[in-house]
Amino acid sequence: MALVVQKFGGSSVADAESIKRVAKRIAEAKRAGNDIVVVVSAMGDTTDDLIDLAQQVTPLPPQREMDILLTAGERISMALLAMAINNLGVRAKSFTGQQAGVITDAVHGRARIVDVVPVRIRETIEKGQVAIVAGFQGVTQETNDVTTLGRGGSDTTAVALAAGLGADVCEIYTDVDGVFTADPRIVPSARKIDRLTYDEMLEMAASGAKVLVLRCVEYARRFAVPVHVRSSFSNQHGTVVEGHMPEGGNVEEPIISGVAHDRSEAKITVVGVPDVPGKAARIFEVVASSGVNIDMIVQNVSVAQTGLTDISFTLPAADGAAATSALTEHQPDIGFTSLQYDDTIGKLSLIGAGMRSHPGVSAKLFAALSDAGINIEMISTSEIRISVVTRADSLDDAVRAVHTAFELDAAENEAVVYGGTGR
Ligand code: ADP
Ligand code: ASP
Ligand code: MG
Repeated sequence: MALVVQKFGGSSVADAESIKRVAKRIAEAKRAGNDIVVVVSAMGDTTDDLIDLAQQVTPLPPQREMDILLTAGERISMALLAMAINNLGVRAKSFTGQQAGVITDAVHGRARIVDVVPVRIRETIEKGQVAIVAGFQGVTQETNDVTTLGRGGSDTTAVALAAGLGADVCEIYTDVDGVFTADPRIVPSARKIDRLTYDEMLEMAASGAKVLVLRCVEYARRFAVPVHVRSSFSNQHGTVVEGHMPEGGNVEEPIISGVAHDRSEAKITVVGVPDVPGKAARIFEVVASSGVNIDMIVQNVSVAQTGLTDISFTLPAADGAAATSALTEHQPDIGFTSLQYDDTIGKLSLIGAGMRSHPGVSAKLFAALSDAGINIEMISTSEIRISVVTRADSLDDAVRAVHTAFELDAAENEAVVYGGTGR
């Protein structure tokens, strides 16, 4: 007998039939003698639809109201799922994030969980009932308002509850059979990975592999929660994320975990920056003070005659307007010539242990991209990752080329995508 937190993503509860199918699965796990806490996302593309709806009403909705609107999506699915489970003769009760004791900071739209006090959830499982919790939401003690945790945040709710309840495992049920060597929607020959360390998964998630959201992996690592990513549409064993890389990382051979891609970034080029000490610092101070996190940075060699240089950096496209308006405001004191904004970029990352100590890895990556006729615009590396920026429309080809070059393609068994719209 175990205490299991099971999270079902939007594509697993997209319609009434899917909700009944998931309910059956939960009831079976309960009847097998386990204590079950379920975290559920909004049905299908409900969250996107609600965002579109708000946009039709006003281009700049107040963030507090936006959070109230979006939390409605998970309320719908939690109640329907509880009804479906009760219908199977297993007692189940649904709870909002607030009722479940998910306490967050007050940053609407991307709140962080600061504490989990799952008193009612414990009471429910002690009574032998299944507790269903709305993912992606919490409450801030500052104002008692509801908050949301950022896109994909139900994963974080699940891991946070698993940590708070001391669960044996957190199972993340989704529309693919686990974490693959690349997104199966782009690379059908991708291979399922049986086991990943927190650090490898952290890099995959940070590089755009949205199968697990980054904060959930950070949370799992911090509280050592084993996470099992698997499909709600099959009974296959998925991917277990746990443990750490060997001490010192003295890996003889680089171990490639996979290729991740990200379409959500944009590039800003600050043109004609005076090449004197302190200018880069000013630029990034200004961007940081607008609350924007930057990712990759490239500074070009300055032109001798003019003493001017260009600095390019990438950032989440959603923060593009904030960063450009902050920089434009400070153009007189920084003294640059102009700004260029480009949101048609894509980022590819190759992830694996032992990258830095194996220069051959980058050479092979660049050769694969050049053979496929793909131009590299920016490069960055870390201990276990190499990332490059390409044109957005060549990103899929780039991912496939690199996946093949590193011999990650499976011999048979194409990866299955069971549902979802990929939105
Ligand atoms: P859910 O609605 O269950 O939260 P998501 O859409 O957030 O599901 O995440 C699952 C999707 O993540 C898959 O359908 C797949 O397209 C995408 N994905 C991206 N990279 C990977 C990867 N390396 N392995 C598996 N899935 C991936
Ligand atoms: N429903 C939210 C979203 O679409 C949270 C989640 O699915 O994890 O981002
Ligand atoms: Mg998700």
